[in-house]
Amino acid sequence: MAIYFEPARNVPIVEESDVVVCGGGPAGVAAAIAAARAGARTRLLEMQGCLGGTWTAGLVSWIIESRKTGLMREITDELDRRGARGPGGERDFAYDPESMKLLLDELVLEAGVQVQLYTHVVGTHVNDAGRLALALTESKTGRQAWAAKAFVDATGDGDLAAQAGCGFDLGHPETGQLQPMSLITLVTLENREALWPYVCNQADTHNEAKKRLFDAMVSAGVTPSYAAPVLFHVRDNLYSLSSNHEYGVSGLSAADLTNATLRGRAEMNRIVAALRSMGGPWEGMRLVASAAHIGVREARRVHGLYTVNTDDMLRGATFDDAVCRVTVGIDVHSTDPSKSKTFDPENSLRTKPYDIPLRSLIARDVQGLLMAGRCVSGDFLAHSSYRMTGTAVAMGQAAGIVAALAAQQHCLPQEVPWADVRAALVRQGAS
Ligand SMILES: Cc1cc2nc3c(=O)[nH]c(=O)nc-3n(C[C@H](O)[C@H](O)[C@H](O)COP(=O)(O)OP(=O)(O)OC[C@H]3O[C@@H](n4cnc5c(N)ncnc54)[C@H](O)[C@@H]3O)c2cc1C
Repeated sequence: MAIYFEPARNVPIVEESDVVVCGGGPAGVAAAIAAARAGARTRLLEMQGCLGGTWTAGLVSWIIESRKTGLMREITDELDRRGARGPGGERDFAYDPESMKLLLDELVLEAGVQVQLYTHVVGTHVNDAGRLALALTESKTGRQAWAAKAFVDATGDGDLAAQAGCGFDLGHPETGQLQPMSLITLVTLENREALWPYVCNQADTHNEAKKRLFDAMVSAGVTPSYAAPVLFHVRDNLYSLSSNHEYGVSGLSAADLTNATLRGRAEMNRIVAALRSMGGPWEGMRLVASAAHIGVREARRVHGLYTVNTDDMLRGATFDDAVCRVTVGIDVHSTDPSKSKTFDPENSLRTKPYDIPLRSLIARDVQGLLMAGRCVSGDFLAHSSYRMTGTAVAMGQAAGIVAALAAQQHCLPQEVPWADVRAALVRQGAS
């Protein structure tokens, strides 16, 4: 490939904050709110036009591991107050993604976070002491630099950490394969009663509903690329439909993301058209929106001071510096379409609830950097379990508090006394 040597240029350092959070998904929003509430001048940078990441732009519409204290409890209560929480159990439930967008905007602004949307984190400056000093962004404004005393990488993909030179792992340890991506859609139904047996919100009928939905699609003449499709009731006649898997693609390749999105959108339209063509209750089904971006289940797992691992899950590990407890087990979507197209056999490993230690949120290779959400330090199987959004919020809240304390105490995240972190978490409602 030919190379173009780009000339060096001056980049304005537009702001010096205590804490810069990169990525405004469930983890990043939580980190920014927590840091600001802890008294830090906080900047949140997000590349999409809304906050919430996979929750909103990705249309996931279903929160797993929702029974966390602190911010996750607050978000759940506020969704309830606004009538934006859909049916589900105590641990997992549906929500209206549009209401979630507005709620997150309001929470972030109320906390005093400075937000810039439409802003892509593309580079860093690490100083001679090995400390992350600047995040570089590209946007309509051009190239900008953002200084902070502490940074949180909540990009899901570990973009900031990778740009700063941190080591990371990617994919299955033997094959390097990544879990498939999925493009999720919103659909409306007219005959809600007749189609209730296909709706997956209830835990006790979840698997049967998926099987019926798969069979209905096959009867309609389309075999979905995801053999365990889900239809969640969101509110009124609005439902979220997920029945697409894109295999062998990487969230770190713009070409892969593009091709997967185009294929996924075409498949979802084909499936809805086929179901409608069966007539009866299916006739009233309409596809009303496809996600603004395809859902990426996994990308970089950034090396931290501790790596959450499969053994931790098998023995139900507890840690003195636990920031939250994960209760869901292994959830690997098959990396290989020729298998069952559903789940890998590793999913049958019996695990116990286990802790996420703060050390797994602190970068090993660069100073002054924390991670939160799906890019924290863990192995392939552990990642498949701690990647759920309720856990991402709890990790984000802890990372934001530690970043704020590190900035205020003029020290590195790992030097903040655990007693201070714990006290701040409790002050913010987390236990
Ligand atoms: C298809 C699919 C279905 C899922 N189903 C469920 C489910 O039902 N329930 C559940 O709880 N979890 C589910 N998950 C898992 C969960 O959605 C994610 O693991 C979770 O959202 C992780 O949160 P996060 O904040 O780390 O990452 P994300 O939600 O991915 O958020 C990352 C944010 O960073 C932004 N960003 C990325 N790179 C940059 C950059 N360079 N510059 C600026 N901003 C950037 C993104 O735009 C995004 O807003 C699902 C995931 C997928 C992909």
